[in-house]
Amino acid sequence: MEEVGTGLLDRLDAMQRVAASAPGGPLLIVAGPGTGKTRTLTHRIAYLCAELNVFPEQCLAITFTRRAAEELRHRLDGLLGPVAEDVTVGTFHSLGLTILRENAQAAGLPADFRIADDADRAAARAEAGDDDERYAALLRKRDLVDLDELLTLPVALLKGDRKLVKEYRERWKWIFVDEYQDVDAVQYDLLRLLSPADGNLCAIGDPDQAIYSFRGADVGYFLRFSQDFTDARLVRLNRNYRSSAPILAAAVQAIAPSSLVRGRRLDPARLDPEAPLVGRYAATSVADEADFLVRTIDDLVGGLSHRSLDSGRIDGRATSLSFSDIAVLYRTDSQAAPIVDALARANIPVQKRSHDRLRDRPGVTAIARELRHAGLDGSLPARVRLAGQLVAERFAVPTLDGSGAVRPEDVRAAVDLLTPLARRCGDDLGLFLAQLATGAEVDALDPRAEAVTLLTLHAAKGLEFPVVFLVGAEDGLLPLRWPGQEPDDDAVAEERRLFFVGLTRAQDRLYVSHAARRTRHGSERECRPSPFLDVIDPGLFERFGDTEPRRPKDRQLRLI
Ligand code: ATP
Ligand code: MG
Repeated sequence: MEEVGTGLLDRLDAMQRVAASAPGGPLLIVAGPGTGKTRTLTHRIAYLCAELNVFPEQCLAITFTRRAAEELRHRLDGLLGPVAEDVTVGTFHSLGLTILRENAQAAGLPADFRIADDADRAAARAEAGDDDERYAALLRKRDLVDLDELLTLPVALLKGDRKLVKEYRERWKWIFVDEYQDVDAVQYDLLRLLSPADGNLCAIGDPDQAIYSFRGADVGYFLRFSQDFTDARLVRLNRNYRSSAPILAAAVQAIAPSSLVRGRRLDPARLDPEAPLVGRYAATSVADEADFLVRTIDDLVGGLSHRSLDSGRIDGRATSLSFSDIAVLYRTDSQAAPIVDALARANIPVQKRSHDRLRDRPGVTAIARELRHAGLDGSLPARVRLAGQLVAERFAVPTLDGSGAVRPEDVRAAVDLLTPLARRCGDDLGLFLAQLATGAEVDALDPRAEAVTLLTLHAAKGLEFPVVFLVGAEDGLLPLRWPGQEPDDDAVAEERRLFFVGLTRAQDRLYVSHAARRTRHGSERECRPSPFLDVIDPGLFERFGDTEPRRPKDRQLRLI
């Protein structure tokens, strides 16, 4: 546990300290990538509790993903010690679930209401047809709550009950929201109910990283924070601790045409004059692009060391980089397959972040049903194991028509996948089943695994890697366009923000590549490099593998 009290803010820079120690009232922290948002947010909570006598149980910290919530929880534990447990940390959905469970009766739900799973939803849909009113009624009749309702029901409940609003405002006097740029209408409504206009609401985010409008997020809520909340204080963090100066310069130029932040500035804290330029590779084909990856990764990680059982030092060359330092980012999931193949052929270990939902894995549904109905005893992880055994026994002999057959190896894999979630849920079976239903993901991504990480640009948000390859930087992929689709300014701006998110994941080395030919939607076509590359000063690139004359390595940094 870190020392709380005097030294608490020492690990922050001047502006981070201003943000972390700001007095109560609405506070908006506008912070670009790599400026230490989570660091500032967690230190603010710790500072308030240690210095201003705020009780941890009065603090509510909301993020968008379970992974981000866990990261927050972990860092708070480090700063505050055991009392960090009293801070409510969660996603919007888990917050909605908490409110609904505490007020099930008032919401017209039985205490043991369940979240509808796919089968429940499909059944209700089949019966209700297009009739949304009727659909909801069917779910209600079966004591089920739909995912969206985890937010809409609490909002409706609070809107109709001033006393309840007052109770929650008393409980959570301090509210913190990370990634505020991705708030949608109902989440915003919920926040407005939980926080008075002059409340202690601290919103952190970066409008230039708003990449979820396709899911209903609206960056407008971020932009009008100071209209919505009284006397809002605004703090900007401009110092980027993550990326080398050339990477940062390229990223800042890339976002400039669409920036939503007036006078966007990102000052590099890192000023190594030897920092490599941004690598740019013009591949002839997708296969050529994958070859470039293999060659470059081999170079970076030290020749063939990974294929040898020796010390990892080949040709007398030692390198401090390992596969886990490297990420490959792409716009669409379909780009992953040829890359996985090429890396695997070269014996380069890869891990791909999966967006599969846990509940879609074979065996998981059967185990969940067993847990729900069998009345098992013991800790939740033990119950999961037991349910797995029961399922394995029951389905050991497949039915004649093959329906209901679950392979024993699938059941074992399912138990392994479910155990970490079971641990996180304490012994709360209801919470466990709710998490499954709300789409907990198969989270096979291990930050320490000795493997190159492959992930989409969306999934890369918030993460950082020493080496990043951004592949497929082509018109039609970045910005993404379907055949025959007219370019739309808002969509292009969001794609540019996504490109910005990708570039700013890199700490030390960034490579951007594009292929001259690619098969999309079933036919191979010629591709032009992404227009997003055109606004980046060519002097920031070191070009590989095309016919253009190589520029002399211009190590002079062009800083903004
Ligand atoms: P993103 O918008 O990409 O999510 P972020 O603003 O959340 O970025 P962090 O991931 O919190 O940024 O921080 C980026 C990196 O900078 C981390 O490695 C963090 O440890 C480091 N960092 C942040 N603040 C400081 C500081 N004051 N001194 C040293 N390192 C710092
Ligand atoms: Mg972050």
